[in-house]
Amino acid sequence: MGLIYSGKLWMIQRFISGFSNNSYLVTCKETNQSIIIDTPKNPYELIDAAIKYDVRGIFITHGHYDHIEGLVDVYNNFKVPIGIGQNDANTLPIKPIKKLKIDNLSIYRFGNIVIRSIKTPGHTPGSRCYLLPSESPGSEPHLFSGDTLFPGGPGKSSSYNKLLEIVDSIKHLYTLPNHTVVLPGHGEFITIKDSKKESDEFLKKPINPKMYGEITWN
Ligand SMILES: [Zn+2]
Repeated sequence: MGLIYSGKLWMIQRFISGFSNNSYLVTCKETNQSIIIDTPKNPYELIDAAIKYDVRGIFITHGHYDHIEGLVDVYNNFKVPIGIGQNDANTLPIKPIKKLKIDNLSIYRFGNIVIRSIKTPGHTPGSRCYLLPSESPGSEPHLFSGDTLFPGGPGKSSSYNKLLEIVDSIKHLYTLPNHTVVLPGHGEFITIKDSKKESDEFLKKPINPKMYGEITWN
């Protein structure tokens, strides 16, 4: 819980609630403009922290209930635009006044915060990851990976084809810089470099067509 990154331009705080869900608050240090990533159940610590800043948007990684169960609470506090991948949009429990359009590789700016959406279908059809690029030479990019990529394996898939889809999405994420820190929707963090190392053997072989569900790399 708490501060996990503080750079020149922005900082990232993490909160845990709901079904061991992570939510994140990204704040521009100069303007206090902030964005929220995911809204699990009982998001009270998130809200208590976020009301100190100028919240401008809520970004949802995907439409599974545990990531949006606290959305009404969060939205009622801030009344800001909400973004979710189009194919997951029907899961939102409310109709926001304004929606953020979350296409592939769209870029959003809030104060000095620059955040890019990346289409990563597989876990759900509308899954998105959100990338905060390196803010200065040497600083780590951060990727909010939702339930697409975790330490140890991909997010849950509901069929073999969905597993192939999420693996493709992950291979695309592997084109990000090696020192990118992956911040998933549950649990702890991993770098792209370490994730590549973990999955190397798995990805070299063809995937067994009977395989899907909760997969680990080994
Ligand atoms: Zn999920």
